Amino acid sequence: MTSQEIKDLTQQYIMNTYGRFPVAVDHGEGARLYDPEGREYIDFTSGIGVTDLGYGFQPWTEAITAQAGKLGHVSNLFYTEPAARLAEVLCKRTGESCVFFANGGGEANEGMIKMARKYSFDKYGQGRSTIITLKNSFHGRTITTLKATGQDVFHNYFFPFTEGFRYAGANDLSALETAGDDVCAVMVELVQGEGGVLPLDKDYVQAAAKLCAGRDWLLLVDEVQTGVGRTGSLFAFQQYGILPDAVSFAKGIAGGLPMSGFLAGEKCRDVLGPGTHATTFGANPVCAAAGLVVQKTLDGAFLEAVKAKGDHLRRGIEALNLPCFGKTRGLGLMIGIEVENGYTNKDIANRLIENGLLVLTAGPGMRLLPPLVITEAEMDRGLEIMKKTLS
Ligand SMILES: *Cc1c(COP(=O)(O)O)cnc(C)c1O
Repeated sequence: MTSQEIKDLTQQYIMNTYGRFPVAVDHGEGARLYDPEGREYIDFTSGIGVTDLGYGFQPWTEAITAQAGKLGHVSNLFYTEPAARLAEVLCKRTGESCVFFANGGGEANEGMIKMARKYSFDKYGQGRSTIITLKNSFHGRTITTLKATGQDVFHNYFFPFTEGFRYAGANDLSALETAGDDVCAVMVELVQGEGGVLPLDKDYVQAAAKLCAGRDWLLLVDEVQTGVGRTGSLFAFQQYGILPDAVSFAKGIAGGLPMSGFLAGEKCRDVLGPGTHATTFGANPVCAAAGLVVQKTLDGAFLEAVKAKGDHLRRGIEALNLPCFGKTRGLGLMIGIEVENGYTNKDIANRLIENGLLVLTAGPGMRLLPPLVITEAEMDRGLEIMKKTLS
């Protein structure tokens, strides 16, 4: 099919819930994507932080193909090797104790929320169920995770929302200190992604972790976007010097297949017993086989390279001195760029995409999430397109 035919068919038959860019994608190689007519795009989006191994990554394709040929699905009423092995690797690499596997980020966060409330209920009974989240956060699109999201624009239309969430300012420790005795957990993103690539202060995060431990509140970290190598460590919390009670992951975990979950520490390992939580597709063996390839690829040297690539790209952007761009910020290959007054991020994104560079927006700024395997040549090609388009 041609790009136009694909767009027409989509518009006719797929619910119109996304503001799509006018590009149809057919296949990819490394950090390059191609439309059906063969036009090349440099990808600084990786499917919103998902395709960490880029496109056409041979070991990933082979592992998926082999596992699909053996066993594509069996319920969680049985044991399978790929999920068990992936859980082992994740626990050993993080110091956490066990994993619950799910399918998407919102679902993973919802599982953490359930665990936090049950932990508190088991120990203290009712009345201690409030979860504090941060202003400007994003935690998902279910009725509960919309309410957990600390942005008013998400609290509309779908009333009634789930009760029991309050919002504190990011980096505002006193808002946590004065939070009251109805609290059971604090949930944060260490780098707020959708909110605009806003890293939390390390001092604040460490003090918040101490406060949570002292009050027996669970510290829940949403690493749906920051996890799985994105920031230059397997999880961002490892650079913040904390060990969360639970940490969710999704986007990059299986390199492009739908998989998510959350890790829990020792004190939570028995909170969600048989019958309290479940999901039909969770721990799918094909997704888990893909996840094992991601884990094997993201070794120490690979993660160091992610940091170096992030530095290269940020320095490259700053050196262009473009009139529309302000400061850059972020961690590893999660990069935010401020947009100067008089320009809009959506307009900049559209112009870059027209010229062959796929980018994202977040909050009022630009957001770059390139595949973690991106090469220096691919990054430099992207920088060239920025220069040509925006000078
Ligand atoms: C993307 C994202 C989610 C939602 O994940 P879905 O897979 O779309 O449900 C939740 N939290 C954060 C931090 C995210 O970036």
